[in-house]
Amino acid sequence: MKKNNIALVAHDARKKELIEWCLYNAEKLRQHNLFATGTTGELIKNAEDCDEELMDDCLYHFYKPFENNVTKLLSGPLGGDQQIGAMIAEGKIDCLIFFCDNLITQGHQQDVAALVRLASLYNIAFATNRTTADMILTSPLFTDDNYKRNIPDAISSYASRKIE
Ligand code: PGA
Repeated sequence: MKKNNIALVAHDARKKELIEWCLYNAEKLRQHNLFATGTTGELIKNAEDCDEELMDDCLYHFYKPFENNVTKLLSGPLGGDQQIGAMIAEGKIDCLIFFCDNLITQGHQQDVAALVRLASLYNIAFATNRTTADMILTSPLFTDDNYKRNIPDAISSYASRKIE
């Protein structure tokens, strides 16, 4: 099974939604390497779920599925988005789940645009909403060792372009 490097980012208004998605998909997500911008990462690390198998009568058993399973980068507005962008450009990220706030402009809107641009340019699996995130995570291609992401020709053409 292919282990992917997944980057997770959520703007403040959508952090709750991303945490819910992570917990719902904890079993699958724990099979991959997770990276997240600072605040999002802290919330994911501390997110608690109830282990029903260990539930004893009415005693709930809570655990943190991602406690040791997320690499936290800088907070997004403080450079974390750019760190993820650089990792994408270096081929270190296979998938970006980015729940962005579509109703307000961020102070670091240029970083947001740069991250979206690189995710698109490098042809990584990229979701900005839960439906697409669900479809990526449940796709057989996502964990298929034989599936190779195509790096667009435009990248090597641009890198080797002639400057007169
Ligand atoms: P945060 O950053 O996880 O540190 O809040 C998210 C963002 O890029 O706004």
